[in-house]
Amino acid sequence: SDSAAARMRGVGLDLSGLHRSFGATRALAGFDLSLAPGELVALLGPSGCGKTTALRIVAGFDTPDQGTVSLDGKDLTRLSAAKRDMGMVFQSYSLFPHLTAAQNVGFGPRLRRIGSAERDRQADELLELVGMAGMGGRYPHQLSGGQQQRVALARALAVRPKVLLLDEPLSALDAKVRLQLREEIRRIQQEFGITTLFVTHDQEEALSMADRVAVMRAGSLEQCAAPAELYDRPATAFVAQFVGTMNHLSGQIIEAGRVRVAGRELPVDGPCPTVGTKVKVLIRPESLDLAAASAEAGTAESAGAGQVLMATFLGATTRLTVRLGDGSEAKADLPSHRASEFPVGSRVDLIPAPRPVLAVEDADDTA
Ligand code: ATP
Repeated sequence: SDSAAARMRGVGLDLSGLHRSFGATRALAGFDLSLAPGELVALLGPSGCGKTTALRIVAGFDTPDQGTVSLDGKDLTRLSAAKRDMGMVFQSYSLFPHLTAAQNVGFGPRLRRIGSAERDRQADELLELVGMAGMGGRYPHQLSGGQQQRVALARALAVRPKVLLLDEPLSALDAKVRLQLREEIRRIQQEFGITTLFVTHDQEEALSMADRVAVMRAGSLEQCAAPAELYDRPATAFVAQFVGTMNHLSGQIIEAGRVRVAGRELPVDGPCPTVGTKVKVLIRPESLDLAAASAEAGTAESAGAGQVLMATFLGATTRLTVRLGDGSEAKADLPSHRASEFPVGSRVDLIPAPRPVLAVEDADDTA
């Protein structure tokens, strides 16, 4: 086939032992990450953890103090950005304002001395692919933010890149357009089979689009795993609380590998603090159920007793915020038809699902 997609082929991208400091700030402190050919990996992490620095080093806009970037097994750490065969889409407004959409898409090919007839044909094809058929003659100021990002994606693909680098490409767009473009970028990325590194601070975006999500913390990789694995089996407390909503319930280790929390005993997943230690037990809202309180208010209450503070309707589920006896709060997601059994002000008992949980020492400030 002569289609644009068929002419591209994903290649493996390896970042190894990257270090980069700016004065006293260590932006990257031994960062490793490998992308398989055709894979989309989202780089996720709190502000300042080094995401943009890593992406800039991959693109060739910056050079690491130590470590290597290689593509298809070839070291390109010292190669200039122009020679790296990478396409980039930035957060916003990166189109050339004085060029039409089609000319923007044809810009890279023109630098590579592709003839105008071929450039036009290719621009039409790519603009159609990104849902912009017939709009090649428009200037950026005549396009919405979402349309501009579609053109920016077509422009990035026009140079037949081996790798696509996306730096928060959706964060300047409104919610509805963002959701639409998430799906389209993913569809196009898969159609092309193009290896893609996607920087975002939006965990929902990362989980919904990526083959794997790489969670960064303070310049290095904390965990890289498929979305469901990251969510269900976070390797560390940092990942557990960074990805998705997480409750931190007070508990105590009662025997090796078992914790008491909310009046129940649960197995501990992963490393278990020593017996007797007071811990925070990490439980997702969907793993907390409620029952009408067993004790009358004012009488001896079970450890998981509390009062419903707030109900947030989310559609199929409703999130109930419960204030516990120790003043802390817990969130429980219930099917909406059941949530109505527990109106605001009612007294309830928390019922954690009988599954293994992460338990971290109470003093641990990462929890
Ligand atoms: P954000 O989500 O806020 O964009 P990030 O994860 O992309 O953050 P980086 O932009 O990579 O983080 O920055 C990592 C650290 O390095 C930060 O502390 C930042 O202030 C610092 N830093 C990055 N670039 C420079 C620079 N050119 N000069 C000085 N410090 C820098």
